[in-house]
Amino acid sequence: MKPKIGILGFTGCAGCQLMILNLEDELLDIFKRIKLVSFQMASSEMKDEKLDIAFVEGSITTEEQKKELEKIRKKSKILVAIGNCATLGGVQALSNGIKSSREMMKEVYGGEFWRLMDSKPLSEFVEVDFELFGCPIEKQEFLEMIRFLLRGFIPLKRDYPVCLECKLKDNECILLEKRICLGPLTVAGCGARCPSLGLECLGCRGVIEGEARLESAIKIFEDAGVSAEDVKKIFRIFSANYPDILEVKS
Ligand code: SF4
Ligand code: SF4
Ligand code: SF4
Repeated sequence: MKPKIGILGFTGCAGCQLMILNLEDELLDIFKRIKLVSFQMASSEMKDEKLDIAFVEGSITTEEQKKELEKIRKKSKILVAIGNCATLGGVQALSNGIKSSREMMKEVYGGEFWRLMDSKPLSEFVEVDFELFGCPIEKQEFLEMIRFLLRGFIPLKRDYPVCLECKLKDNECILLEKRICLGPLTVAGCGARCPSLGLECLGCRGVIEGEARLESAIKIFEDAGVSAEDVKKIFRIFSANYPDILEVKS
């Protein structure tokens, strides 16, 4: 019996599902080993079957989505949250704690035409077994995750920062130029993509669990001449739901 897999999405840009679809060289091999029950981005055929693994993209922003997620959880043995939206609430969480959806909708559309909740990660509502980080996810990490799960192993968890990958690439540190780089706080796995291109890490993979000390990092940034407010504003882009940051207004 092939394991039954579903790839599903809530609020997001669908870029993480697209990354899976872009695995052109590997997809056929994967499909030989699994039964793909639903893949929202690739097919309109959605079967309501029990799943061995549900890969779920996107954040929860409506009551209907919350109920749908609870249904997915009930019918899935393993639930994997994929991407920044599903693991942290995404950039759409930027307004959390600042403005209600009612206020925002009035400002933008002149009225509240549908009801939105604050954007929250899946783990706020159901038990999430594993997470894939990034905006979007890394293709190689998806492959690694599916290989581990299909063999019945617990997937690897990276507990070191982007800085480590950056140093291994011998990049010159952006902090030396008094620019804000969230690499020291951010979970590795992207190969320090942005600093390797001379760009600041904006923390799209989220904060390293139990390791990142926001206040200490802010002190280091301040010593480098960057204001704490600026650091917190950048931190909010991808981690607005992180507990220490919620009270910081943009
Ligand atoms: S994490 Fe980024 S790429 Fe993935 S769905 Fe959300 S916005 Fe799109
Ligand atoms: S550039 Fe950023 S990621 Fe690289 S070492 Fe410096 S702080 Fe860390
Ligand atoms: S360097 Fe930072 S912002 Fe860029 S992909 Fe990696 S985690 Fe995301």
